[in-house]
Amino acid sequence: MNSWDYSIYWKEVIKQMRDEISEQEFNMWFNNMNYKDSAESEIILTVPSNFYKDQIKQRYLTNIEGKLIELSGDRIAVTFEIQKRQLTGEEQSKQGSGPAENKKAINNIINQHREENHPQLNKDYTFENFLIGENNSFAANAGIAIAKNPGKNYNPCLIYGGVGLGKTHLLQSIGNYVYKHYPDKKVVYIPAETFINEFIHSISKGKAHLFKNTYRSVDVLLIDDIHDLQNKKQTQEELFHTFNALYDNAKQMVFTCDRPVSELKQLSDRLRNRFERGLNVDLQPPNYETRYAILKNKVIYKNVHIPEEVIELIARNVTTNIRDLEAALTKIIAYADLVNKNISVEIAQQQLKDIIQSPKQTNITIDLVQRIVADYFNCTVSDLKGKKRTKVITFPRQIAMYIIREITEYSTTEVGLEFGGRDHTTVMHACQRIENRMKTDTTLEPLIHQLIRAVKEHGNDS
Ligand code: ADP
Ligand code: MG
Repeated sequence: MNSWDYSIYWKEVIKQMRDEISEQEFNMWFNNMNYKDSAESEIILTVPSNFYKDQIKQRYLTNIEGKLIELSGDRIAVTFEIQKRQLTGEEQSKQGSGPAENKKAINNIINQHREENHPQLNKDYTFENFLIGENNSFAANAGIAIAKNPGKNYNPCLIYGGVGLGKTHLLQSIGNYVYKHYPDKKVVYIPAETFINEFIHSISKGKAHLFKNTYRSVDVLLIDDIHDLQNKKQTQEELFHTFNALYDNAKQMVFTCDRPVSELKQLSDRLRNRFERGLNVDLQPPNYETRYAILKNKVIYKNVHIPEEVIELIARNVTTNIRDLEAALTKIIAYADLVNKNISVEIAQQQLKDIIQSPKQTNITIDLVQRIVADYFNCTVSDLKGKKRTKVITFPRQIAMYIIREITEYSTTEVGLEFGGRDHTTVMHACQRIENRMKTDTTLEPLIHQLIRAVKEHGNDS
């Protein structure tokens, strides 16, 4: 027995947190964290991994420590221990300090826990390995909610976003979770392209009925990259009927797509309508903090030594998506390994020189870009921020948004706010429009470069 026992404070902190954050968020972070012990001015908690520890610290530590001061009148530090792996279900459920019903739920799940991996799923694509940032928190939490209660609240669900942003990872995380925790549920993951090929093959072999039966008897159907269904009329037709059959039986369906379904051409209206029926969530490019956290996490996972400045260098410069981020990291590690050198900033810079053109300037503000663009198009900054939707204003507005996203670290949410409180999706679409337009309009790119140069010059002056 030790003489310090802060467990009552901890219980109260948990209670308050439960009221403050969403249920999904709470389940994600707090259900996996347990009170272990107290020491002098210290509460010791256990968490499943370093990943959890870093995320929890980043998200909640200040808040938690603040609460502890309020409750106890003293400064009580919170420290984390990593839970030992491979506890039996019983041991694990004993550790919990959460409410009884919660423990029971966890216990039930653990008792049925399945050890082997799903044949169609990558075992590393799990929620634990999926880092949550502002770019993906809605989609990730929806995924977690679905995995815990397949077929209940968010059915169907469509996850959309550009290449390398985590669609497949998230989709398979749902599959892996359900497969492990609900052994009686049949989980099928299939890329749309394979679905198409299998269907065509089944017809040519005169076995279309078998195909139908296979897909209409699943509990959780996960179809990746449904944009590939465009132009495939017959397969669309088949999927439409599969959809209806599963939907009527409250079977969970989750789809991914590289753009909002509304932008898919060559898709039958009735199938489009089905995809749009449930919850549609988007994945956006990660901001600096998230990029940094993802890299940090990978480095820990791979157990390599990489100086802090190199991680920052990659996070600053590789801004497109997570796949590129991983590729950059792998390239540097491989190089250092092959030539048997320690990873330095110089090596990293040299290896990433195609990606790193010039370091991003920090003195460029949204306001500066707005002023330069407005000036160029001979309108006012208030026009850019205002409600007018005439072409003379929307075009410069889109260009300004695009430039800001290109050369600064502001998130789409932040940019939206500075444009009269617009939604982040508006900013995303604006950038997408400009990108599309650049493909056909050859004058646009030089114009944008010219504006970027002007912005950078003014940025340097200030
Ligand atoms: P998409 O299907 O959208 O093209 P993927 O799911 O294949 O993208 O993701 C690309 C890579 O990035 C994968 O290796 C995946 O594990 C990783 N990744 C994506 N999002 C995250 C995330 N939030 N946390 C950690 N890794 C991620
Ligand atoms: Mg994918």
